[in-house]
Amino acid sequence: MNYRHAFHAGNFADVFKHAVLVRILLHLREKPAAFRVIDTHAGAGLYDLTGPEAERTGEWRQGIGRVRATPLAPAAASLLAPYLEAVAAFNPGGALARYPGSPLLVLRLMRSQDRLTACELEPSANAALKRALAADLRAKSVAIDGWVGLNAFLPPKERRGLVLIDPPFEQPDEFSRLAHAIVKAQRKWPTGIYMLWYPIKDRRAVTHFGRALAESGIPKILRAELSIGGRADDLGAAGLVLVNPPWRLAEEMETLLGPLARVLARGPGGGYGLDWLRGEN
Ligand code: SAM
Repeated sequence: MNYRHAFHAGNFADVFKHAVLVRILLHLREKPAAFRVIDTHAGAGLYDLTGPEAERTGEWRQGIGRVRATPLAPAAASLLAPYLEAVAAFNPGGALARYPGSPLLVLRLMRSQDRLTACELEPSANAALKRALAADLRAKSVAIDGWVGLNAFLPPKERRGLVLIDPPFEQPDEFSRLAHAIVKAQRKWPTGIYMLWYPIKDRRAVTHFGRALAESGIPKILRAELSIGGRADDLGAAGLVLVNPPWRLAEEMETLLGPLARVLARGPGGGYGLDWLRGEN
């Protein structure tokens, strides 16, 4: 395990993923019944944007840095506002110095009755995550392989909620692992919402992944991809797969993703795609 999210925290892919994550949490909050979030690859929790890792890549400046500084059209701005407010809550001085990863964004949006289970296997990231979550009794961090956790924690007793699967894509077989894992998980907990993140570097692998999901028998799958265009030597596009997305999420993403892609674009070729792999068409 070499991947360290601290180099990438707050970049365009985090903004895309976390803006959608916050929308899903807002939908879950619409009903009073408790929900559970299972974050299988949770990361360290809170990232120092002034630290050596973030400074070395500067990726956050083209991600959260830009979206905080650039006004969007009103409809998109109101959909993005809860995410920006959550980020602002970790930066009480106003200037952007810290970026909350998925478990802290989840906690921020959770109510007293909701629960978070966060898996992180890398020891130093797990120790940081434990520190970041320590004071909050609604959250539990576990030093467990997220793929094992996915099987072990499903279905949660709340019977409603979200599973976020956000692996580092260090292994060559990560796409097929992801496809197998989601099929198995969805069988164990058919009504859960699932959000999967993937990088778009190898277009053939991504196409194959989409086809495998479309033929998997899972009835409702929405796919979103966002590209920032420009040079091709590092990550310039990422995707999300959403199984059982909340009602109206697709409509919200249709409003939000175009303006977001324009703000995040670093060159020609930027944009977004949104389609149903199964259902809703
Ligand atoms: N979900 C986080 C967020 O949105 O803020 C970012 C997670 S980062 C992309 C992936 C994380 O998975 C890394 O912190 C890495 O240490 C961790 N990791 C790698 N292999 C893992 C495994 N098998 N089980 C659990 N965590 C793992």
